[in-house]
Amino acid sequence: MNKIILIFICVSIFYGMDTVRAKEAPSAMDKRFDKYKEQFVLELWKINPSWAGSVGYHKYDNVLVVPDNKSREKELAFVKANLDSMKKFKLAELTDVNKTDYYLVENQLRYEAWSIKELKQYEWDPSGYNISGNFADMLSNDYEPLDKRLHNFYEKLAAVPAYYEAAKKNIKNPTKEHTDLAIEQNLGGIQVFEKDLNEAIEKSNLPNKERALLNERAKEAVAAIKGFAEWLKTLHNDNPRSFRLGNELYKKKFAFEIQSGYTPEQIYEKALKHKEELHEKMYALTKQLWPKYFPGIPMHEDRKRAIRKMIAMLSIRHVAPDSFQLAIEKQIPELVAFINKKNLIYIDPSKPLVVRKEPDYMAGVAGASISAPGPYDKNGNTYYNVGSLAGWDKDKAESYLREYNHYILQILNIHEAIPGHYTQLVYANQSPSIIKAVFGNNAMIEGWAVYTERMMLESGYDGDQGINSTEASPEMWLMYYKWNLRSTCNTILDYSVHTKNMSREEAMHLLTEEAFQQQTEAEGKWKRVSVTQVQLCCYFTGYTEIYDFREELKNKLGDKFDMKQFHEQFLSYGSAPVKYIRQLMLSGK
Ligand code: ZN
Ligand code: ZN
Repeated sequence: MNKIILIFICVSIFYGMDTVRAKEAPSAMDKRFDKYKEQFVLELWKINPSWAGSVGYHKYDNVLVVPDNKSREKELAFVKANLDSMKKFKLAELTDVNKTDYYLVENQLRYEAWSIKELKQYEWDPSGYNISGNFADMLSNDYEPLDKRLHNFYEKLAAVPAYYEAAKKNIKNPTKEHTDLAIEQNLGGIQVFEKDLNEAIEKSNLPNKERALLNERAKEAVAAIKGFAEWLKTLHNDNPRSFRLGNELYKKKFAFEIQSGYTPEQIYEKALKHKEELHEKMYALTKQLWPKYFPGIPMHEDRKRAIRKMIAMLSIRHVAPDSFQLAIEKQIPELVAFINKKNLIYIDPSKPLVVRKEPDYMAGVAGASISAPGPYDKNGNTYYNVGSLAGWDKDKAESYLREYNHYILQILNIHEAIPGHYTQLVYANQSPSIIKAVFGNNAMIEGWAVYTERMMLESGYDGDQGINSTEASPEMWLMYYKWNLRSTCNTILDYSVHTKNMSREEAMHLLTEEAFQQQTEAEGKWKRVSVTQVQLCCYFTGYTEIYDFREELKNKLGDKFDMKQFHEQFLSYGSAPVKYIRQLMLSGK
């Protein structure tokens, strides 16, 4: 089964939260469904040992599945057996948590069958064959004694040559882009079996004989990887498949992956319209701010040039390189105070967020991210990792700080921490579900974070004005719109490239001219869209669905609409697709 959506959710229980809904009493049907879920997940790990290891379930660490016909048939049998067992459960008799779990499991099983029978990525995407990440985790994550991990590593290595032989048999008419990526990533991963492995062996207590055996197998693995890369380089392929997915496959992949109430065409149309609205608003703000920042200088006639110039001007305001983390730490309690004052959502004071410098193994990807413990690591902490700019050269640091300037940094904190990802996570943990920890809906999770950015600004949030702020400044809004253009244009890009044949040139125009991005950012995005499909749509789709739903309820309830209650109820279902949350909320639950 593909590692399609992985979200790490901590499953500890929180006390003292004023839940909106009274806990539903589980029925006999629920109890049976709970048992079924447990069994289902255990079987899932048995046929997907590498995936299991990546979420912290290490029972099958010594197994590498050879991706041949036999293993695909095994997966299809698993899908069929489980779709059959699920027919025994009556949806109407399940609690909301189990209902949404049911939808997620069913969707995942159908997605898997479709991927094997129709999408057939294992034929055209050689980059799907790469063992290094999984083996690297076994060396760097300290979940078991090193000697035990190395022993599993040794046993798992045995299947590597067969793994790459099966890969060669599977590959038919691959795309050029995925072939290049496969060569690059496979060769890049070799160091795991040389340098990294040697360092680990040095630290271990393995006897010399076992060290020698391990080295021997590692050599065979490296030879298999090099052989695969070489085979790809010389592969005769006169008429390679296009990396563009095409309308039919795209539509289906979108349905399985995003699980939206909208079709991809509808989302694309909405994104186009939203882009135009954002440009209008950005131009009006630029006009308003121009005399303040460029007194006496006439404004550019070209609208987009004027906006670009204003964005560049506002980006100069940023923190010093050494106070990046401090600035973030200071903002978190201010966000909480503002939310409490405005009654936007309940924030559990017993669960403060710990801000820390990002650990070494994450270094290099500067920025900020939330890391929460996996479903099998119940006692772990949740952290807000902040990248350090120490050691960066001056130009690189300056360009980074302009990107994450005074305004954008505030929006980033809203998105990643409060009331974005971190707050959503705290609510999801109230109804712990292993299913949602493994198959949680990414469009809902990202959509929520993007939704909160706008919600906070609409409520008047502005760090410069403190907790009594009632209206965000025009500067704040302008920079927010630029930020929002990114996810909007990601959707336009993804849909256009994969279903409408958008050229590289048109894509670069969209990103640099219409979304005001730097050349390097735009080039990176082009590379990403040529090797992924649909994923780039999850931010805008989730955001749009949540915002539309909120407005729908507001219109329906009029004066009776309560923002705080809406947010709390919305999050209480866990990381479920927005369309199901909407259904459950409208049904009066
Ligand atoms: Zn500067
Ligand atoms: Zn996010």
